[in-house]
Amino acid sequence: MSEYMDFFARLGQETAERKREFLELGRIAGRFPSADTADHGEISIWCSNDYLGMGQHPDVLAAMKRAVDECGGGSGGSRNIGGTNHYHVALEAELAELHGKEDAVLFTSGYAANEGALSVLAGRIDDCAVFSDQLNHASIIDGLRHSGAQKFIYRHNDCAHLEKLLSGVDPQRPKLVVTESVHSMRGDIAPLAEIAEIAERYGAVTFVDEVHAVGMYGPEGAGIAAQEGLAPAFTVVMGTLAKGFGMTGGYVAGPAVLMDAVRAFARSFIFTTALPPAVAAGALAAVRHLRGSRRERERLAANAAVLHGLLRNRGIPFLSDESHIVSVLVGEDRLCKAMSALLLERHGVYVQAVNAPSVPTGEEILRVAPSAVHEAADIRRFVEALDGIWAELGAPRG
Ligand code: PMP
Repeated sequence: MSEYMDFFARLGQETAERKREFLELGRIAGRFPSADTADHGEISIWCSNDYLGMGQHPDVLAAMKRAVDECGGGSGGSRNIGGTNHYHVALEAELAELHGKEDAVLFTSGYAANEGALSVLAGRIDDCAVFSDQLNHASIIDGLRHSGAQKFIYRHNDCAHLEKLLSGVDPQRPKLVVTESVHSMRGDIAPLAEIAEIAERYGAVTFVDEVHAVGMYGPEGAGIAAQEGLAPAFTVVMGTLAKGFGMTGGYVAGPAVLMDAVRAFARSFIFTTALPPAVAAGALAAVRHLRGSRRERERLAANAAVLHGLLRNRGIPFLSDESHIVSVLVGEDRLCKAMSALLLERHGVYVQAVNAPSVPTGEEILRVAPSAVHEAADIRRFVEALDGIWAELGAPRG
């Protein structure tokens, strides 16, 4: 019995420490960017990844309702054992077409897509050497770890370092270069043209995580590679349905032979229940809508520019103005948490503090995500609230 108590006590202590990192916030109802909560009443949300508001778009909701009426709730099984529905198949075809690739494979999340696809692509090829950006997402790290392939980590967006590492590896070895396009925490954009050029020179296959870019960038929402005319230069593109497309789920798109390998071997594809048909139907409606409509992308870009301008005027430092992810640099974990708590208590403004280990110590941020469904007046109110608290807590101005 005492061993059990010790086990529980130790885990409980670690958990309590981690839980203190986050504001507890139970959303009860409300449509983004507002919500009702039990403890804080009505709040406005500034850290959602539903960047384009597609989670409430009428076309998306109508498609979901139709699919529920047609197919019911759950998918009933894994993709290979009874769980595949015509919406999954249509969505995979649409995503392949969006990215100009031969095929695409759906997963139940972006995390599962990276974990599954990378563990297969890097792991099923003998002696593969993988080159991965130092700040790549946990799902990329886990996929590469599970692949067992040898890893070479290059400094964030540092092409000279990437090239140095590539040049030190036997030219005969199969190679894979992995990067995000819009970085999830910093909001900066990887130098994709240079990465693709270097990778090609060293004969490396390329994998780009466009989770924070699909829907938001490119003429049809296919992401940064497409926006820069580089889509063909990336062998595999990975995306999520949970951010710009407002649903849940993830995918990879690429050459048929690689996608077949992912379907055949990725454990996070094979050994789990497929997405509910209504989620696939909602995502399909979102992808189709955003291929044909620039309106949401333009609103997001305009709102991000307003936020950048207001923060700059007040000397509130942020990490990058290259995308819609606006990481306000606080640089100290207690200050960051205090700021987040005060914003909620005083102003009903909800933005989570992001502390280590999600970001390096000393780079603690408020990761602010304006969206296409915020109004310019909302952004002004948000910055005024932040500015007041910034002054009160004596945070440094840039
Ligand atoms: N890649 C990156 C860069 C991410 O930021 C995230 C999640 N925020 C994922 C993958 C996982 O995506 P999902 O939330 O769909 O699991």
